[in-house]
Amino acid sequence: MLQQHENKIVCSVCGRTWEMDEELKAGDPCPSDDCPSRAITLREEALKLLKQAQAIDGMMPHIVMHHHEYGDTGYIFWSDKITPEEDEVVKAVLHSDFEPHKGEYLTVDNVLLPELLGLANLAETIL
Ligand SMILES: [Zn+2]
Repeated sequence: MLQQHENKIVCSVCGRTWEMDEELKAGDPCPSDDCPSRAITLREEALKLLKQAQAIDGMMPHIVMHHHEYGDTGYIFWSDKITPEEDEVVKAVLHSDFEPHKGEYLTVDNVLLPELLGLANLAETIL
């Protein structure tokens, strides 16, 4: 985000500075392609797109953890159900066989879109 500082325009994220220019003003996004704020902007755009998709089909992201003898493997599973059926999750996301007889189990938790994209605490952590 650009801010005016005396006679200059300064990016509050990367610190780049420009002379006052009609094309750049306070409140604009930073024009530098490699500014970390650009990556944040792209993730925020991704969030907007995912919200639009959710409005169309109602699909919600779930974090699936497959607990198996070698450790845990995580997946993202989309469903229009708050609590999807286990066999539905197994079919959709597991790369390997699901072997409950060997002590394997799944945990399936809802996650909100901002949390999915790591944007839930954006204002506190980055800006
Ligand atoms: Zn910048």
